[in-house]
Amino acid sequence: MIHEPLVFAAISDVAGKVRGKAFPLIDLEQRLRSGIGWTPTNVQITCFDVITQSPYGSFGDLIMMPDPDTEVRVDYDDGRPAEHFILSGLQNLDGSPWECCTRHILKAALVELERVAGITVIAAFEHEFQLTTAMRPAGDAYSYIGFSDQSIFLSTLTAALREAGLDPECVMREYGADQYEVTVRPEPALAAADTAVVLRELTRTTATRCAQAATFTPIREPSGVGNGVHIHLSFRDADGRPVTYDADGIGGMSAITASFVAGVLRDLDALVALTAPSVISYTRLTPHRWSAAFNNVGVQDREAAIRICPVNEASEHSIADQFNIEFRAADAAASPHLALAAIVHAGLEGIKDRLPTPPLVDEDLSLLGTQALASRGLQRLPTSLADAIECFRRNERFANALPGDFAEIYRLHKTGEIDYVKDMNSERLYAAYGSAY
Ligand code: GLU
Ligand code: MG
Repeated sequence: MIHEPLVFAAISDVAGKVRGKAFPLIDLEQRLRSGIGWTPTNVQITCFDVITQSPYGSFGDLIMMPDPDTEVRVDYDDGRPAEHFILSGLQNLDGSPWECCTRHILKAALVELERVAGITVIAAFEHEFQLTTAMRPAGDAYSYIGFSDQSIFLSTLTAALREAGLDPECVMREYGADQYEVTVRPEPALAAADTAVVLRELTRTTATRCAQAATFTPIREPSGVGNGVHIHLSFRDADGRPVTYDADGIGGMSAITASFVAGVLRDLDALVALTAPSVISYTRLTPHRWSAAFNNVGVQDREAAIRICPVNEASEHSIADQFNIEFRAADAAASPHLALAAIVHAGLEGIKDRLPTPPLVDEDLSLLGTQALASRGLQRLPTSLADAIECFRRNERFANALPGDFAEIYRLHKTGEIDYVKDMNSERLYAAYGSAY
């Protein structure tokens, strides 16, 4: 068979999918200068490939502009063409960023945080997923046998990530049925979001090449274990010094970290519309699933929406260098760029308003009623995507921080998605998201 190498210009879109167009590799230099055409209404293609209400209709054109810093080429040496893609930004024909470009939305949020608060973000996305083809009997959680059973897939995946320029850290057979987790080391925020996109796609392609199938769906069945995306964050000042930690701060948080966390928790009911954006995400965001069900922060608490992570006091690295917070109310139905941008915007508003340190929670909040929660300044997070979208619609801070008509377009997208699944029974619903992600 004859082959000509192709490169795929990719965007991480509002549906949390990676879409784009491929072109012959011989045209790469020219494409890096001139880009590839794209259609505005594509932003309203949901994860189920249904186009929801679009203000653009059949009109307009955009340019997808590949960023050569994000080029991924992985040759698996298995007789099939290499995976070759480049993450891209979406711009208007005059070269200005398009209002719904998720990568640009994150870039703008990071620029604003640096301009107003003088800090940059270091991040790492921790991903859980399940192999739908493995179907091992129960008893494998964290086990060597569960790991070894997938050693071909996991070692091929590690090689693929490294080949793509990522820095693999840990691979494990997680707790849920046929569930695995892969982590990579922290890096500057934009690169970390790019890495999350690459990691998801290479996990899927590696699984396929190993005659497996991987899903990052937020949860596979109501009684199952969720697949979380935990986003670790720390901050640096203009000289690159870590500023997340203060030995005298509550929970070890510096004043700027505390205000950032308070800002995120204040808007969390709206924020989850962007970080946990599927209908079934709200089955995962329930108590006792080690995800997040309330707008709380806790020290080393895996039920907290924001967990203050442990530090190894015996490590060669200083506590200030290690100290980080973990946002747990996210899943892989969200574009990593959009999820991180939303967190940064909410955190920045907290810094601007000089919000005080939120109380550290060390109890089981599911045992408290609404009033007891309110007296602690806490609330149960929305229990459906529709409720989260309504909180998002009412939240003026987000509407003002996000570019152009993005907030309304996003709301229409998610409303269309809710509508599409509304008559599905539970089995169809979970299966539909399972194959979408
Ligand atoms: N599977 C859990 C989630 O949905 C996380 C478990 C853990 O702490 O790693 O977020
Ligand atoms: Mg985990």
